Amino acid sequence: MSHSSHDMDMPDTVTAAEASHSGFLDGDYDDAAGYYTPGAPLVDSKAPDGPISERWQNRKFEARLVNPANRRKLSIIIVGTGLAGASAAATLGEAGYRVKSFCYQDSPRRAHSIAAQGGINAAKNYKEDGDSVHRLFYDTVKGGDYRSRESNVYRLAEVSTNIIDQCVAQGVPFAREYGGLLDNRSFGGVQVSRTFYARGQTGQQLLIGAYQALERQVAAGTVSMYTRHEMLELITIDGKARGIIARDMVTGEIETHLADVVVLASGGYGNVFYLSTNAMGCNVTAAWRAHRKGAYMANPCFTQIHPTCIPVSGEHQSKLTLMSESLRNDGRIWVPKNQADCEKDPRDIPEEDRDYFLERIYPSFGNLVPRDIASRAAKNMCDEGRGVGPEVEGVRRGVYLDFAAAIERLGRDGVEEKYDNLLDMYERITGENPYEVPMRIYPAVHYVMGGLWVDYDLQSTIPGLFVTGEANFSDHGANRLGASALMQGLADGYFVLPHTIRDYLADGPFEEIAEDHPAVVEARESVKGRIDHFLSVNGTRSVDSYHRELGNIMWEYCGMERTETGLKKAIDLIRGLKDDFYRNVKVLGSAETLNQSLEKAGRVADFFELGELMCIDALNRRESCGGHFRGESQTEDGEAMRHDEEYAYVAAWEWAGEDSIPVLHKEDLVYTAIEMKQRSYK
Ligand SMILES: Cc1cc2nc3c(=O)[nH]c(=O)nc-3n(C[C@H](O)[C@H](O)[C@H](O)COP(=O)(O)OP(=O)(O)OC[C@H]3O[C@@H](n4cnc5c(N)ncnc54)[C@H](O)[C@@H]3O)c2cc1C
Repeated sequence: MSHSSHDMDMPDTVTAAEASHSGFLDGDYDDAAGYYTPGAPLVDSKAPDGPISERWQNRKFEARLVNPANRRKLSIIIVGTGLAGASAAATLGEAGYRVKSFCYQDSPRRAHSIAAQGGINAAKNYKEDGDSVHRLFYDTVKGGDYRSRESNVYRLAEVSTNIIDQCVAQGVPFAREYGGLLDNRSFGGVQVSRTFYARGQTGQQLLIGAYQALERQVAAGTVSMYTRHEMLELITIDGKARGIIARDMVTGEIETHLADVVVLASGGYGNVFYLSTNAMGCNVTAAWRAHRKGAYMANPCFTQIHPTCIPVSGEHQSKLTLMSESLRNDGRIWVPKNQADCEKDPRDIPEEDRDYFLERIYPSFGNLVPRDIASRAAKNMCDEGRGVGPEVEGVRRGVYLDFAAAIERLGRDGVEEKYDNLLDMYERITGENPYEVPMRIYPAVHYVMGGLWVDYDLQSTIPGLFVTGEANFSDHGANRLGASALMQGLADGYFVLPHTIRDYLADGPFEEIAEDHPAVVEARESVKGRIDHFLSVNGTRSVDSYHRELGNIMWEYCGMERTETGLKKAIDLIRGLKDDFYRNVKVLGSAETLNQSLEKAGRVADFFELGELMCIDALNRRESCGGHFRGESQTEDGEAMRHDEEYAYVAAWEWAGEDSIPVLHKEDLVYTAIEMKQRSYK
C-alpha cells in the first residue's frame, strides 16, 4: 500500500494564462487567473467504494495491523492537546505506541477546545424524533452546502454514537433529564434534537475526559508530555514527516524531536482575522510550516462566521466572545421594523413593530437556520440600517436575542437551568441583564472549515504526516453545523486515526534518523534564522498592530461577503503589509527567555501568507456556498447560489516557493448516496 503524494500526479507547469486558453479552467472567466498555477487533479487514493454504510468497516479491516510488541518500537509525535490531540494521544498511548505530546499552553487542559460551550452531536435518536446515522450524515452534507466528502461524513455520523458512550464511560457529566437519561437539545440546521451537552461547558467537560485519559498514559509511561513547547518547523526526510523543531517557550531552547510519524492536531486559524471567538493563542504556524514543506492546504477560504457573538464594542478590542448557539433554541432574534426605533429601549417597542426576521424569512427552521444563513441575515438587517446597540464607526452592528417569551413559557428558573452560565457571562461582559433586556448579538469569526488536506486515512500529502480535528480541512464542507466540531475532533482522535495510522506504521521499523542529518540541521537552522530576523529588525511597529491591520483587511474583503474587486484589493494590501512587517516590525526582548512578542511575530508572519492564500482561494471560487458568500453569485432574493457544474471540488493548494504563486489541485466531489440540491431552509 502506498502513502504518498506519488499517488497523485505532480503539478503541471502551465501558467494560469495558458491554462485559461487551453480550456483547463472552468467557465470562460477565471477571476483568479494570474494568482495561481493550475495543477493536476487530486485523487484520494484511500477513498473506499461500495455501499456507503460499509465503507468504514471495510477500510478498518483492510488497514494493516501492528502487533503489540512492535508498537512499543514505534514513535508518534502529536502536536496539540485539544480534543483531537488529547484523544489521539491517549488512545495511541494505550495501544502501546511511544507518544510525544506537545502544546504551547502550560497544561494540555488549556487547549482552546475548553471554550466550547454548546454541545456535541450524535445520532443516538434518544428522543425518538426521527434521527439516525443517515439523517446526521444527510444534515451534515446539506449543512456543509455539498462541499464535503460523502464517505468521510458518513463515517463521522457512524462513529458519533461511540463518542457519547466513550465519554459517559469516562465520567463526562452530560446533562440528564429528570429520569436520569441523557438529555438532548437542538442546534441550527436540523429539525431533531441530537446535541448532548454539559450546560454551557461541554468542551471543558469533554476535554477533562480526554485529559484524564491522556494523563493516565503519561503516568503509565507511554506518553511524554511537552507543555510550553511550540512547534516551529516540520522535519521531512526523503519526503516523509520524521519530526518537528520546537521552541521551549520558557527557556527559548530550540529542540529537535524525531519520530516515525507526526500528527498535527493544532486547531484552527480563525485568528487570522485578529478579532474572533478563538482563544488568543490559536494560530496556523504548525499547519503552515507543514504546508510549506509539501502538505496541501484545502479550501482555506471556508470560514465560519457564528451568528451569536457579543457585538464589537470599540476599536481597541482584541477578543470577541461567543454566546452559544444553543441560545437560539429558546431565544428569539429580532430587529425593529422601523429604523426610527433602533435607539429605543427594546422593551418599549411593541410586538407589532418587531421584525423576527429569521422566523419571517425561514418559517420551517426559524431561529434554528444554519449559522451561515443566520449570520448573513443579521448582517443584511444591519446593512439596511436596522441594527441596534451603540454605533461603532457609524454603524449599529447588533440584533436582539430575546428571552422574554422563553421566560414566560419556562419561567425564569427554567431558563436559568439551561443557560445560566451563558447569561451570567453576557451580563459580566456587557453590564446588561439578559433576563430583563434582550441580549445583543452579531456574527463573528468562529471556526475554519479549511485546513490541511487529508485523505480518508487523515494523512496529508506528506507521507507520515496525519492531521486531525480543526486543523484538517474537515468534514464540514463550506459550513459547519453547530456541535459538530467536537464530534469531529473526538471521532478523529478516539476512533478514526488509531485505525488508519496503523496502516502506515505497519511499514516499520523505520530508518533511524540522527540529529545531525542534513535535513534536521536545515530545519533547525531555518527556525533560528527566522527568530534572529524578527529580533534584529528593530523597527517601529508592534506585532499586534500588524495583526490588527491584517485582520481588518481579512474581515472587510474576505469576511461575510467577498467580491472579485475586494479580494484583489485585499491581496495587494496583504502583500504590501507583509513587506512592511519584515522591514519595520519591532520585537523586544531576547530569544533565550519567555518572549510573547517573539512568539506572536512568528505566528503573524504565517498569518500573512495564509491570508493571501485565503483570498486567492476565495477569488477562485466564484460561487456562493456555505460560509463563502460571493457577491457575484446570489439568487434574486439574496440567498447563496452554488454552481455545482464548475465548483463541486475541494481546492487543494500546493506551496510553490517563496516567490511563486500557489498551485491549485482540484479533488472532485462525487455524491452517490445523496443528491445535490440548492439548500432551502424556508
Ligand atoms: C468559543 C467557542 C465555542 C465553541 N463551541 C463549540 C460547541 O459547542 N460545539 C462544537 O462542536 N464546537 C464548538 N466550537 C469549535 C470547537 O471548540 C473547536 O473546533 C475544537 O475544539 C477544536 O479542537 P482541536 O483539538 O482541533 O484544536 P484545539 O482545541 O484548538 O487545540 C489545539 C492544540 O494545538 C496546540 N498547538 C497549536 N499550535 C501549536 C504549535 N505550533 N506547537 C505546539 N502546540 C500547538 C495547542 O496548544 C492546543 O493544545 C467552539 C469554538 C469556539 C471558539
